Amino acid sequence: MKKSILITGGAGFIGSHLLRLLVNEYPETNFVNLDSLTYAGDLKRIDDISNQPNYNFVHGDITDLSLLKILFEKYNFDSVIHLAAESHVDQSIINPFSFAQTNVLGTLNLLEIAKEFWSKNFNDKLFYHISTDEVYGSLGEEGSFKEIDPYKPRSPYSASKASSDHFVNSYFHTYGLPIIISNSSNNYGPDQDYEKLIPLVIKNIFEKKSIPIYGKGENIRDWLYVGDHVRAIELIFKNGRIGENYNIGGQNEIRNIDLVNQIIKICDKLLDRPENSSLKFIKFVQDRKGHDYRYSVDFSKLNNEFGWNPMKNFNEGLQETIKSYIDKLKTIKK
Ligand code: NAD
Repeated sequence: MKKSILITGGAGFIGSHLLRLLVNEYPETNFVNLDSLTYAGDLKRIDDISNQPNYNFVHGDITDLSLLKILFEKYNFDSVIHLAAESHVDQSIINPFSFAQTNVLGTLNLLEIAKEFWSKNFNDKLFYHISTDEVYGSLGEEGSFKEIDPYKPRSPYSASKASSDHFVNSYFHTYGLPIIISNSSNNYGPDQDYEKLIPLVIKNIFEKKSIPIYGKGENIRDWLYVGDHVRAIELIFKNGRIGENYNIGGQNEIRNIDLVNQIIKICDKLLDRPENSSLKFIKFVQDRKGHDYRYSVDFSKLNNEFGWNPMKNFNEGLQETIKSYIDKLKTIKK
């Protein structure tokens, strides 16, 4: 295992799950979590590891090049796992500039600093960039995204992530920087921000508020349990081939409306409400601009190379996830 790893965005949803796994599993490795704590970042997510001797938190921005320089000098990183990003498609439609700033320029800063510090010896170094399947665009009823597919991003969010992926690849081809990229489907699990679909639906059911659903709710997403995602990241980080990208999928394709119906069923049961009584909160709203119809991820490369499969059964994962939010919402209400 590497000795000193910079993790960006570790106070976010996926970053916090990843940090918990790595900090506990690799006590000999020093982890630095660099996070600017935007509205989406919350250190409470990783309260449980904050006092571990191999964990450090730095409150700072990846767009701050001078700070990155200081951190590379101080901690002598041999790897970067880069998750920090503006991550919500709806926000990107409202304010695309912050997406270009963080996702594109922030990533470019990190690449530049890693190149500068590692240029004498790229051996045993790794810049691992975490990205999304949304860079591939939108699918019809058939097919799944493969690593060799062309990028066709359609929202400002996916355009910014696609752009950052291109920069990461360009640093490999131009300078020989050792990089890996992984592109995963939609994550779900405990501790996600309430702006995202699953937590939002649970919160609104709990608070007896309307549940906004874009269009007719027919768009299809592939859902990956966050615990399965961070396991895949660990595997790729340790064994992935330099210069490659790996798709990570959940094998759980479901229409938004069917997902919401499933959440309602589980929530009503957990909240001791009559079955399906929360169906009345569903409110169909004007479709998201440029709404991608379907995502589906072919992760056979990851499976063939490392035997990785998503382990979490979707019904179980959803049940556990919903319970975790309801427990939390109940304590907030008290
Ligand atoms: P998140 O929004 O929950 O967390 C992002 C974190 O980055 C937050 O803690 C935030 O404070 C931090 N951050 C934002 N801008 C920053 C900046 N300029 N400098 C430093 N820190 C900054 O996101 P997430 O859902 O955990 O996603 C993590 C990564 O995984 C992102 O790169 C995202 O594109 C990618 N991804 C997410 C999903 C998903 O379903 N959530 C799926 C595929 C890929």
